[in-house]
Amino acid sequence: MSELNTNANATVKAAWARGALARVLWDEAQIQQRVRELGAEIARDYQALLGEALLEEPPLIVGIFRGAIVFLADLMRAMPIPVEVDYVQLYSYGKGAEAGEIQLLRDLGTPAQGRHVLLVEDIVDTGQTLEFLREHLEARGAASLRVCALIDKRPRRRVPVQLDYVGFVLEEDAFVVGYGLDYAERYRNLPFVAALKPEAVRRA
Ligand code: 5GP
Repeated sequence: MSELNTNANATVKAAWARGALARVLWDEAQIQQRVRELGAEIARDYQALLGEALLEEPPLIVGIFRGAIVFLADLMRAMPIPVEVDYVQLYSYGKGAEAGEIQLLRDLGTPAQGRHVLLVEDIVDTGQTLEFLREHLEARGAASLRVCALIDKRPRRRVPVQLDYVGFVLEEDAFVVGYGLDYAERYRNLPFVAALKPEAVRRA
């Protein structure tokens, strides 16, 4: 586990996961710092967009479950403005690492009609998930739609998508886990983001 040892703190916290992790991409402190910056920037933008109306009709933050749960929880607390929160749940990856059909498992509980929606995504890969959700929310009459992604993973992009806020850019085609991101439902509770060893990833 030599590469993972480059971050001693992360190594201690991930002792149980060592065998599968190649290296830490962003550690806990880097993520927390970036989330604070994003929260402040997003809050400023909604203040500028909505002004006084912010109190009456705050932006609706929509998390994409389950991958965005950890990011969503931190990001909303980094936004010093009123917000409402909801989530949608999709099914696409299953247990492997290849994208499949996208299905909506859980729709919004809040009507999106006339709302200023901020979609919060864990990682954008091909872009298909975001395209699907953009069409879905526009069909429901959202007044505006912005997208915040923790990670913009660029090598396999098939659909051009507009990302308004990005935490980190990943230029390599690595499969990453941690901070909400899973592989076969594991590793979501790692406080950092790491690349899985290629041999640990089963491409379906
Ligand atoms: P897209 O539709 O953009 O191809 O895929 C987006 C979804 O695929 C993400 O929300 C996430 O669930 C999954 N995904 C894509 N790349 C990764 C990755 O490197 N790690 C994990 N854990 N999930 C990924």
